[in-house]
Amino acid sequence: MFCDFDLHMPDRLDDALSVLTDEKGMPMAGGTNLLVDMRSRKETPASVIALGNVGELRGIHFNDERTTIGSRTTVSDLLQSTELVSSSPSLVEAAAVFAGQMVRNAATVGGNIACASPAADLVPPLLSLDAELMLVSASGSRTVPLADYYQGYKRNIRGKDELITQISWARLPENSVNMFYKLARRKGDAITIVGVAVTLSISNGICRKARIALGAVAPYVLRARESERRLEGQVISEELLCAAASQAARECCPIDDVRASATYRRHVVKALVGRLLSQSWNRLV
Ligand SMILES: Cc1cc2nc3c(=O)[nH]c(=O)nc-3n(C[C@H](O)[C@H](O)[C@H](O)COP(=O)(O)OP(=O)(O)OC[C@H]3O[C@@H](n4cnc5c(N)ncnc54)[C@H](O)[C@@H]3O)c2cc1C
Repeated sequence: MFCDFDLHMPDRLDDALSVLTDEKGMPMAGGTNLLVDMRSRKETPASVIALGNVGELRGIHFNDERTTIGSRTTVSDLLQSTELVSSSPSLVEAAAVFAGQMVRNAATVGGNIACASPAADLVPPLLSLDAELMLVSASGSRTVPLADYYQGYKRNIRGKDELITQISWARLPENSVNMFYKLARRKGDAITIVGVAVTLSISNGICRKARIALGAVAPYVLRARESERRLEGQVISEELLCAAASQAARECCPIDDVRASATYRRHVVKALVGRLLSQSWNRLV
């Protein structure tokens, strides 16, 4: 069933980092991905560093400028934060349709980012919020934009000895709307067919900021940057929003799989991006 491995259960971040030096060591947060992969022998780590006792990695903090969450914060924790609902609604909307209750209680934000699945549901909202990751190793730390984290299918820039410790993002400007929608067979306990998160900030009818993030339609969750560029600095109109939605559909590169065809996914991207942008605009005017 499982390969043989050494299990470390540190209580402190420093101790976790000191054992994460082994090339074949892997951190485990909620284990909802890793244990499944170990059972199927997709992953055969020589050592597992369980983060469950490292309390400093869990929690949600707000100040006047930023929201910061510890990487071991669970999906259920997100749903219990009333302040997140108003400051970062797309993340709460994604949490609400994430797996079922038991998985939500264990699955963490850091694990969702680190697994690098193209269908990871928390990643489009975090991209739409311009989130940054803190990566920490025994020898130092660095902050990287989430938008620069992925390099290809299940590939990212994290060093083997680094942990994601925090995810943070600036408060949205006044007159902003932030939304997420997951298309799947069911609301919860279903793998995403297409996930879309948008942020739209407007003043005097002009789009000051646009973020459009697309899940399950490329080797990793991506931003539709050309579509964003079409909106920023422009006077918003229905025609412009339609053009941005069409552009987003051109920027994705979905595949056919058991859940949907590539053609269908591309069609859904256009429909959902158009819908979310239009709803956002209607809320702002
Ligand atoms: C029944 C079921 C339903 C699911 N439904 C959904 C769903 O609706 N949406 C969705 O997006 N996902 C879903 N998943 C997948 C999974 O639950 C999520 O990706 C979850 O967020 C992973 O978090 P975790 O804490 O369990 O990660 P783990 O399994 O502990 O780890 C996953 C990967 O991340 C690495 N890792 C963990 N923490 C860190 C860290 N702090 N720093 C660096 N690397 C780290 C691990 O080494 C491993 O490679 C589902 C899984 C199951 C079993």
